[in-house]
Amino acid sequence: MIISVKTGSRTQMIDITDQVRRAVKDFGVRDGLVHIFSMHTTGAVTINENADPAVPKDILNTINKIVPWDDRYTHMEGNSAAHIKVSLFGPSEMVALEDGSLVLGTWQSIFFCEFDGPRQRKVNVTVLPADR
Ligand code: ZN
Repeated sequence: MIISVKTGSRTQMIDITDQVRRAVKDFGVRDGLVHIFSMHTTGAVTINENADPAVPKDILNTINKIVPWDDRYTHMEGNSAAHIKVSLFGPSEMVALEDGSLVLGTWQSIFFCEFDGPRQRKVNVTVLPADR
């Protein structure tokens, strides 16, 4: 099932936890594993804190320092920084599903990470039912 995410700036972390929960509900599965996968080479998926919005802000500020937009990159499209960030973060996360609920820690949220926005993005959500 595809989740649509509209991003608003070049680098941005968008909390998609509620969208993932709604997508998971539509599968009608109570227990299993949920795979959340970015279908892009310049947008990632990660899990981190959103209780304090300063956390995603600090993550983005730091990754932008580690991987600057302009450097001696050779990729013609000019967005190598975004590709590198996606390889550092990874395109997907996996979360357990128990009794119809995502097993996330109190402070954990699922984020889509935009590294070359603004764009319209697609995140694929798959549920693997537990064999009971
Ligand atoms: Zn590119």
